[in-house]
Amino acid sequence: MKQENARASDGQKEDCIFCTIANGSTDAEVVYETDETIFFHDISPKASVHVVGITKMHVRSLTEAVEQNIELAAQLLKDITVVADKLGLTEGGYRVVTNVGSNAGQEVQHLHWHILGGERLGPLRCVI
Ligand code: 5GP
Ligand code: ZN
Repeated sequence: MKQENARASDGQKEDCIFCTIANGSTDAEVVYETDETIFFHDISPKASVHVVGITKMHVRSLTEAVEQNIELAAQLLKDITVVADKLGLTEGGYRVVTNVGSNAGQEVQHLHWHILGGERLGPLRCVI
């Protein structure tokens, strides 16, 4: 989906792939968007439904988000439930995961939650 260029660029990092999705310079299949957050399909899905939810502002991880802007972190969590509902995941259930740092295998250094569902998911250890 081609995005509008109306997204805020304040607080973004030029070399961050998720910042470029947030500001519309990299395409993504966007499923939901607010002034502060954006949700899009993961480019390499690990479940029938695999959506990634981010803050438009560049925040490195959950640790940094909670330290620097807990309201924004909370807003992102709230929006996850809206998106899960919109994707029809609420009734059957879904999984929400965020990787923090190297042991977790965080590849993109911009806070993001994985929303996984649409099928019975395997053991937690094997998710991402
Ligand atoms: P992490 O391992 O950092 O928790 O997850 C990063 C996720 O971002 C991966 O699941 C990966 O497939 C996804 N991803 C990386 N680059 C892109 C991209 O350019 N577009 C989309 N839609 N997803 C991406
Ligand atoms: Zn970023």
